[in-house]
Amino acid sequence: MKVSILGTGYVGLVTGACLAEKGHQVTCVDVDATKVATINHGEAPIYENGLTDLLRRNIGSRLRATLDAREAVLNSDLTLIAVGTPFDGARIDLTYVEEAARVIGKALADKAGYHVVVVKSTVVPGTTDGVVLPILAQASGKRAGRDFGVGMNPEFLTEGEAISDFMDPDRIVLGGIDPRSQDALAALYEPFADVPRLRTNNSTAEMIKYASNSLLATMISFSNELANLGAAIGGIDIAEVMQGLHLGRYLNPMLPDGTRVVPAINTFLMAGCGFGGSCLPKDVNALIAHGRATGVPMQLLQAVIDINAAQPGQVFRLLAKHFPSLRGKRVSLLGLAFRPDTNDMRESPAIPIARHLLAEGAAVAAYDPAASGEARKIFGEQLRLTDTLEDALRGADAVVLVTRWKEFLRVPELLARMDAPPVFVDGRRMLEKGALKRYEGIGL
Ligand code: NAD
Repeated sequence: MKVSILGTGYVGLVTGACLAEKGHQVTCVDVDATKVATINHGEAPIYENGLTDLLRRNIGSRLRATLDAREAVLNSDLTLIAVGTPFDGARIDLTYVEEAARVIGKALADKAGYHVVVVKSTVVPGTTDGVVLPILAQASGKRAGRDFGVGMNPEFLTEGEAISDFMDPDRIVLGGIDPRSQDALAALYEPFADVPRLRTNNSTAEMIKYASNSLLATMISFSNELANLGAAIGGIDIAEVMQGLHLGRYLNPMLPDGTRVVPAINTFLMAGCGFGGSCLPKDVNALIAHGRATGVPMQLLQAVIDINAAQPGQVFRLLAKHFPSLRGKRVSLLGLAFRPDTNDMRESPAIPIARHLLAEGAAVAAYDPAASGEARKIFGEQLRLTDTLEDALRGADAVVLVTRWKEFLRVPELLARMDAPPVFVDGRRMLEKGALKRYEGIGL
C-alpha cells in the first residue's frame, strides 16, 4: 500500500520505518527541513533502539521523507496524521492537527480516486469526526464516506521500546466512520498477523487511548499516595507492600501448571518520584479539560495529576533528613530522561528536581546515558553534565536516582569503594535498600 504520514516525530517516524519494513511504500512528511534531510541520509533525529537500522535498510527504496505534503498525499492511498497534540495549559492544542487536515484536504481537492485519512495522533474523543472530518470536507470540497474515508488508529508504543512495540503490537484499534475506512486501515495492518483487532467508531478509538494512559497514570499516583502515607506512618516499606499486592491472583495469575504470570502492568504499581514523558501528563490533563468542557468533572484524574505534581517533593523530604540546607552541597542526578532507553526529557521529573536543587543553591551534576544533549537545551551550563557514571558520583554529598537506566545497577559497587559515600536517594526504588550505606528511598 502507498502510505503518506504527516508528522515525522517519534510516532510518525517509527510508524513510517516499521510500515516500510513490513513492505509498504511510505512517504514521511514534516515541516522541519533538518529532520527531513537527516532521515533521507538514513539517520534518526531521535534516539530509539533499532531505528537507525530500519531507516538504513529502507530509505531510498520503500521509505522517503519530504517537505511536500501535497505531493505525498497525491501519490498515496492512505494518509496518517501523526503530528503533535500538546496540552496548552488549558486544553488540548489541535493547531497542528487542524493544519495537517487542511493541507491534506487541499490536496484531496485535486485527487481523482478515493483516499483514506487516518488520525494517529492522540486526540480527545470527538476530534476526528468533529474537527478533522469537517476540515477535510471543506478544504477538498468533497464528501466523507463517498469521496474519502476517515479513520482513527491510536498508537500505543512506548518510547525506548518503540520499534518492538510497533512491530509486535498487543492490539490494533481500527476506528472509522464506515466499514470502507476500517477496511483500508485493516489492509494497512495486514502484515501484522495474529494481533487482536478491534473495529469501532472514531470517538471510541480515541477514548481507548485515553483510557489506557489514564489507567497507567492512576496506578502510579495510587502507588505514590500509599508510599507517602507509609513513609509518614513509619515502619512500612512500599516496595514490600507492592510485592504483597502483586502476588494477588488478579495481578499475578496462576497457570494450570502452577507457574505464575507477572503482567507488565505491575510495573506501574510501584512508587517513585512521579511520571513524566510526552504522553501521560499531557493526555490526562487534556482529558480532564475535555471532561470539564463537557460538564463531567474528572475528579479521580485531577487527583492523579495533583499527586504527581507533588511527588518530586518526596526527594527533598528525604534530602532534608541529612542536610538542613542544600546550599553549596554537591548533588548528582542519575538519569534525566523520563524513562530509560530514550533521550526524551519532556515532562521528566528530573526537570523540577534539578530546578529545585539549583534554587536551593546546590551544585548540581547529572549523568544520563542518552539525554545530555536534551538537558543542555533546557539547562545550558547550569548543570554539570558528566560523560560517565563514575564522574557523576565522584565527590558528591548526595546522589538522587531519577531514571531506571540499567547501568545504575553498578552504583552499589561503585559507592562501596568510596571512603565517604554520599547520601543516596532512590527516586525509583531501583536498588536493594541493604546494598548501600546511606540509602533513602521513596516510600521507605
Ligand atoms: P513529535 O513532537 O515528536 O512529532 C511531531 C512532528 O510533527 C514534528 O516533527 C513536527 O515538526 C511535525 N509537524 C507539525 N506540524 C506538521 C504539519 N503540518 N505537517 C507535517 N509535519 C508537521 O510528536 P510525537 O511524540 O511523535 O507525538 C505525535 C502524536 O502521537 C501526539 O498526539 C502524541 O500524543 C501521540 N503519541 C505519542 C507517543 C510517544 O511516545 N511519543 C505514543 C503514542 C502516541
